[in-house]
Amino acid sequence: MNLVYLDYAATTPVAAEVAQVMAQHLTLEGNFANPASRSHRFGWQAEEAVENARIQVAKLIGASNREIVWTSGATESNNLAIKGVLEGFESGHVITSSIEHKAILDTCAYVQASSSKHDGFDVTYLEPDEEGLITAQQVQQALRADTRLVSLMLVNNEIGNVTDIKAISKVLAGHDALLHCDAAQGTGKLAIDVVDMGVDLMSICAHKMYGPKGIGALYVRKAPEVRVHQQIHGGGHERGMRSGTLATHQIVGFAKAAELVMANIDGEIEHNRQLRDRLWQGLEALGGVQRNSHVTQCSPNHLNVSFSGVDGEILLASLAQLAISSGSACNSASVAPSYVLKALGLADEMAHAGIRFSVGRYTTEADIDFALAEITRVLAALR
Ligand SMILES: *Cc1c(COP(=O)(O)O)cnc(C)c1O
Repeated sequence: MNLVYLDYAATTPVAAEVAQVMAQHLTLEGNFANPASRSHRFGWQAEEAVENARIQVAKLIGASNREIVWTSGATESNNLAIKGVLEGFESGHVITSSIEHKAILDTCAYVQASSSKHDGFDVTYLEPDEEGLITAQQVQQALRADTRLVSLMLVNNEIGNVTDIKAISKVLAGHDALLHCDAAQGTGKLAIDVVDMGVDLMSICAHKMYGPKGIGALYVRKAPEVRVHQQIHGGGHERGMRSGTLATHQIVGFAKAAELVMANIDGEIEHNRQLRDRLWQGLEALGGVQRNSHVTQCSPNHLNVSFSGVDGEILLASLAQLAISSGSACNSASVAPSYVLKALGLADEMAHAGIRFSVGRYTTEADIDFALAEITRVLAALR
């Protein structure tokens, strides 16, 4: 049975070159040692691999190597950014949006409640405008004297819409609030430069860009005002911000993935865009389909649509040969309509019928044409 993977926003396969490098950092013959072992050459070699990787991953986002803190993924990076910054305060205000990933929303809900550490923070959840975008103007209006942190995503995982982070950083110029950006969906899809964007903190991970799952990083701008308190204690690794033995194989895999992305970012963007547009043109021709993703301010590999006149769940179940998702994978355990599509103003029925297609490096024109043929066939049967 032909199966086509169109769910690159959920995760990507690991590039063969990445898997190869990882395999060289596991066994006795390989570079397997603990990078924190200071008393022998094995340890020094592992440390060197980790530090070279740090330089590579830093380059991917225009950072310096000393600004990269390894984590287990973007979920942990988001937790570290929000809890780690707010731990420096007893109270205050946070700005985020209602269309963030659950790793942000659940962490914000956690800091809203008072705890032994603080009184609970006020959180403003910005709603996307009619185009599905969060704007600098909205941030400006929500900003308070006691705003400690603004946390907004670069690319939305469900619809792919891109937030103008640079414009938001300009609004924050001269204000003490720090700017955090969840860019887990952005790396490998867009060119990213933390300095140009003006962010203080950025979450990224490897598994959305052809690297392994379970490894990510938090960019922490090196400046006295950017203070992040550790959330995982034990040994003081990563400049005291995140303890734990570094996973050399994961880290070198992340770096190799970053190297591959950087070597051909324009080509990757063009490849994704062409296939995504081919898919959209085919779907549009079928009629009765609404594009939920923004037409221009959107990641090149994302396409979120709603089909009218069919039940979303049934449609998805009928398209068994296509790996696609309703809403995001992280929420696929729940059958509630997508909170992102609802925030965009879609009625329950259309929010329920939302389907996310996401293409990637290994997607071919034949995959798209197969998907279109399948959708045509299934819609004809269901409508
Ligand atoms: C995938 C994703 C995450 C979670 O990243 P993990 O590395 O899987 O923990 C966070 N935010 C966004 C926007 C994502 O797409």
